[in-house]
Amino acid sequence: MSFPLPQPSQPPAHRQEVCAMCGKAAGSSPIVEKLDGEDYAFDSESCALLFKRFRSVYGKGFFP
Ligand SMILES: [Zn+2]
Repeated sequence: MSFPLPQPSQPPAHRQEVCAMCGKAAGSSPIVEKLDGEDYAFDSESCALLFKRFRSVYGKGFFP
């Protein structure tokens, strides 16, 4: 008979920034762009540019 190992407590509650464009972890120094009053984090400048281009083409509703 085996017992499950005790689960570690919740991970530290610091927010993991994820690229709003490609979904990759943006690491400790994400590129943050403020669009319509909301902050979006990106892992690279090219993702930020792509995101802004998509938004201007498809509008705000394209991304959740
Ligand atoms: Zn990205």
